[in-house]
Amino acid sequence: MLEIKRRKTSVVFVGKVPVGGEHPVAVQSMTNTDTRDAAATLAQVKALAAAGCEIVRVAVPDEAAAAALAEICAGSPVPIIADIHFDHRLAIMAAENGAAGLRINPGNIGSRAKVREVVAAAKDRGLCIRVGVNAGSLEKGLVEKFGGPTAGAMVESALGHIDFIRSLDFHNMKVSLKASGVLKTIEAHRLLAQRTDLPFHVGLTEAGTPVTGAVKSAVGLGILFFEGMGDTVRVSLSGDPIPEVRTAYTILRALGIRRRGPDIIACPTCGRTEMDAAGLALKVEEAVRNMTAPLTIAVMGCVVNGPGEAREADLGVAGGRGTGILFKRGNVVAKFAESELYDRLMAEIEALEREYIRTS
Ligand code: SF4
Repeated sequence: MLEIKRRKTSVVFVGKVPVGGEHPVAVQSMTNTDTRDAAATLAQVKALAAAGCEIVRVAVPDEAAAAALAEICAGSPVPIIADIHFDHRLAIMAAENGAAGLRINPGNIGSRAKVREVVAAAKDRGLCIRVGVNAGSLEKGLVEKFGGPTAGAMVESALGHIDFIRSLDFHNMKVSLKASGVLKTIEAHRLLAQRTDLPFHVGLTEAGTPVTGAVKSAVGLGILFFEGMGDTVRVSLSGDPIPEVRTAYTILRALGIRRRGPDIIACPTCGRTEMDAAGLALKVEEAVRNMTAPLTIAVMGCVVNGPGEAREADLGVAGGRGTGILFKRGNVVAKFAESELYDRLMAEIEALEREYIRTS
C-alpha cells in the first residue's frame, strides 16, 4: 500500500489552528463579499465554517475594509487572515482589529522598514504571517536576474523575505508560491522544500471556473500532497467559495489524507440502468454536504457491480427495475420502490451522522 510521507515542517498557529508538523492539512477559503460590508462577509465566513472551512481569508483593499475586520473577526467562528497588498498600514490595522494572520506579498509590500513594522504588529499580538509569493508580482530585479518569473525567482523572493523576517526573531510564519501553471508550481515547491522547513500554504492561483478549476487543482495539489508538501490548502474557484471547501476535502479524501463528511460513490450509469441512479446520487450528495461523519455511500445503478460496491460501503443502494436494494454495512436492509429509496437512504445516513456526532 502506497504511503504519503509528509514533509517535516515547523508548526505555526493561525489563531487556535495549528498548521504544519503532524497536524491535519488545514482547509482554507476566501470570502468574495465586499469586506467593507461586515454583515455580508461575516455571513459568508459562517457559511464557510459550516462547510468545514477552518481558516478564512478576506481581502483588505482599503481602510474601510480593515476597519470592518473588527466586527468580522469578533463574530467569526474560525480564524481570519487579512490579505494585504501594497499598503503595509492596512496590515497593521488588520492586526489591531483582530486578524489571526496576515498574508503579505513580498513583491508589493514595500521597503524592509515597512515589513519591519508589520512584523512588530504581528509579534505583539501573536499573529501568523504568510509570505505569499506570486509569479505575477515578483520583484523586478529577480525577474531580470532569472530571465523571467521562473520557479527559481519565486524561491529566491520567498527566501529573501523569510530570512529577513526571521532575522527579526519572528517565526510564526508559513509560505506560499503561486504560479498559474501546474508544472511551475510543483518545481517551485520542490526547490523551496530543500531550503526551508516552514509550512507550505498550497493552492493554484487563478485555477478557473468550477469544473476546470477543480480539475486543475486536483492535478496540481494532488501531486504536491502526494510528494508530502502542503500543510494548509485553498482551492481557488471563481464564484461562490463554498465549493472550494468541498473540492479541497475531495482532493484530500482521494489521497487518504483527510476525511470529512460522506464520500459518495456513484456508478457512471449505462444501458443497464433501470432507475435514476445519477439523480439519486446527486440528490444525496447535496443533502449530505454539511455532514461530518466520514461515511462511504454507494449509489449503483444495477446488479452487475451494484451489490458488491453497496456491500463494501457504510450505506449502499444497488438499483433494479424501478427499485433498489438498500445495504447497511454489508447487510441488506430491504428492497424499496424507487420512489421510497431517497427517504430510506437519508434516514439511515442521518442516523449514522447522529451516532458519529454523539461518539466523536
Ligand atoms: S453499476 Fe450497472 S448501471 Fe452502473 S455503470 Fe455499472 S453496469 Fe451500468
